[in-house]
Amino acid sequence: MALLDSFRLDGKVAVVTGGNQGLGEAFAHALAEVGAHVAIAARSRERSEQVAAHIIAKGGSAAAVDLDVTVPAQVERMLETVTRDLGPVDVLVNNAGTCYHRPAAEVPPEEWHDVFNVNVHGLWNCAQTVGRQMIERQSGVIVNIGSMSGYIVNRPQMQPAYNASKAAVHHLTKSLAAEWAPYKVRVNALAPGYMRTDMAPVDRPEFRRNWIEDAPMQRAGLPEELGPSLVYLASDASSFMTGTILVVDGGYSLW
Ligand code: NDP
Repeated sequence: MALLDSFRLDGKVAVVTGGNQGLGEAFAHALAEVGAHVAIAARSRERSEQVAAHIIAKGGSAAAVDLDVTVPAQVERMLETVTRDLGPVDVLVNNAGTCYHRPAAEVPPEEWHDVFNVNVHGLWNCAQTVGRQMIERQSGVIVNIGSMSGYIVNRPQMQPAYNASKAAVHHLTKSLAAEWAPYKVRVNALAPGYMRTDMAPVDRPEFRRNWIEDAPMQRAGLPEELGPSLVYLASDASSFMTGTILVVDGGYSLW
């Protein structure tokens, strides 16, 4: 296979959870650009349909599918719908996530549980449900979206639940990778630094000093800058890679 062809996903079926804005939207566009049929799986149907329409307008293949990752029955239904309409899932991108900024002593139980419900339990629900299908087919790739926050403690904002949840995502990635390698299912994670999305308001003045001026590259990333790394992990270009956490943070975590 020619080197660049190994990055193609022609005819493959990819699901992107939380694919209707921010990083997930960029991942959906990237996967469609290399030939995948992309299911955009999130709660806001309207936004998912808008992203699907945009991809289709560019010549790609995409469809919106309803999903709240925290509800196991919805995860099952999402898999049934995608399998029926597009085919069995070749690539799962576990991207849906949430974050709150609050000092640990002030975190209410609802916020702690919400972060773990979406970032860890939701990711687990999707990985297990879609993973079972992949195991049966002896084929599949899962890319979990972790974060540099799984390695470092961010500042000035405190976000204890988020940081712990992303460390859990990284180690679950390794656990699943080891267990499912014999079934030809690869599991890797992408760990971004600060990227310009609703979750990371990189232009707010109170974050400038720590988020931008303290960063080796002196800037935040743009969602589309992660597309090539995501495609690498999702495609045969990374065929001998599993259980790896690929950090793409503009060097932020070096200091
Ligand atoms: P956004 O807040 O912009 O988008 C979050 C997405 O997740 C939305 O599409 C939302 O759609 C979806 N979502 C939230 N809850 C659920 C749920 N229960 N079920 C299904 N979908 C859900 O975040 P980003 O794009 O910035 O972040 C995407 C991922 O990247 C997250 O995992 C985040 O932790 C990670 N990340 C982000 C970084 C950044 O700097 N931006 C840095 C490192 C990691 P809807 O509301 O319609 O369900």
